[in-house]
Amino acid sequence: MLPVTAAEKIIFDLIPALGNDDRETVDLLSSSGRILAAPVIGSYDVPSWPNSAMDGYAVHYEDVEHCSPQHPVVLRVIEEIPAGKIPQCAIERGQAARIYTGAMLPEGANAIVIQETTKLETRSNPTPDTYSETSSTSNLEIDPETNLAFNPELQPNSIPIPSTSNYIWVLEAPNAREFVRHRGAFYRAGSDLLTPGIRIGAPEIAVLAAVQCTQIPVYRPLKVAILSTGDELVSPEQPLAPGQIVDSNQYALAALVKQAGAVPILMGIVPDQPDLLRDAIATAVFEADIVLSTGGVSVGDYDYVDRLLAELGAVIHVKSIGIKPGKPMTVATFAGEPKPVLYFGIPGNPVSALVSFWRFVEPVIKKMSGLAENWQPQWVTAHTRNHLKADGKRESYLWGRVQLQEGSYKFSLSGGSHSSGNLINLSQTNALAVVPVGTTAIPAGEAVRVLLIPQ
Ligand code: AMP
Ligand code: MG
Repeated sequence: MLPVTAAEKIIFDLIPALGNDDRETVDLLSSSGRILAAPVIGSYDVPSWPNSAMDGYAVHYEDVEHCSPQHPVVLRVIEEIPAGKIPQCAIERGQAARIYTGAMLPEGANAIVIQETTKLETRSNPTPDTYSETSSTSNLEIDPETNLAFNPELQPNSIPIPSTSNYIWVLEAPNAREFVRHRGAFYRAGSDLLTPGIRIGAPEIAVLAAVQCTQIPVYRPLKVAILSTGDELVSPEQPLAPGQIVDSNQYALAALVKQAGAVPILMGIVPDQPDLLRDAIATAVFEADIVLSTGGVSVGDYDYVDRLLAELGAVIHVKSIGIKPGKPMTVATFAGEPKPVLYFGIPGNPVSALVSFWRFVEPVIKKMSGLAENWQPQWVTAHTRNHLKADGKRESYLWGRVQLQEGSYKFSLSGGSHSSGNLINLSQTNALAVVPVGTTAIPAGEAVRVLLIPQ
């Protein structure tokens, strides 16, 4: 009987790495939940051009850096730039452009004044209503009486100008570069954007969409064959004759395999007959990357799995683990091309089956699927609300729920019998509290190590 940590090390060391053959390309939406198999490198900067982070006015920072409600600066608004439109004019000193969030910054502007710190004024233009505006505003001056910007070089000529012009009074100096999203500020084309080994979720999909990466290199999902062994088993659809037990493991494990990101292959119920079981195991090993069987790994006369695995040429690495529930657990490998097939002979008791999966199999599926980090079991320390009991001989896993309350985890034991055959009180389990070897009780209120179960 191997201590849990020793068994865990042996098992996790068996996980083969995925290769180039295990990559496939999927479209953007289909990549959700998949694991990235190659670096993603974007081909353009984000943002691709400088744009405004706020609704306001694009200005020269030098025009507004000293202004305040007592000393506002007045700028002439020469253009309106909605999002998606290309600015038509360069902004010169003394000028501003009305700009909206996401709109392209006009040439010359290097700051955004938010509209909340401005006052808009519409003025009639003086007659004669024609002016020549020299392109240079270097001689811009502020009228000390009105605080208005004016250019003494303005000369009458024949270009008609509108009868009104908009001006803004800037009442507050923005911070330099504030609210300007500079080109490439968030991402520079050609650098690594996403690294392989991450699971693609909504944030990654947003990133990929933003750089127009729509064909995503991902690892293929692993195939996990599941078979239930036992003469007494019937499927949930079949009538239950006296002495029979419903095969719940196949369905629970299929759901867990799916949740872990792999594809379950349901192999059905196999009776305790060595020939049939041998064939079923051989087929499962042929079909899948990982095989999970439940039942038939204990020391009873009808427990054939270990013997058949040896007959079929598997190498058995683990036979029993010092864990409760879940002690009779067989872990074996079949030499396969291009990589070995992992076999988990899981005990048949429904709770043992689930605890064994959560503790050993789920991390294996995640890592073998290509996940580079966070594939390991996730532990937290919680305070138990209930008195926890164990025999002290094996590492004991008690099922229940953890809740985060005022910043600390609290563990509540599921009510009812904590027998490995009782699956009824497993419902809503999201954590397993661990009573270590050598400890027979953890009083209510004490700290306990808790394995989190992914929901
Ligand atoms: P075994 O590991 O084959 O000795 O089975 C231990 C206990 O688990 C027995 O009570 C079985 O009837 C029960 N059992 C085995 N396989 C399943 C299954 N697939 N679904 C539900 N219970 C099972
Ligand atoms: Mg059995």
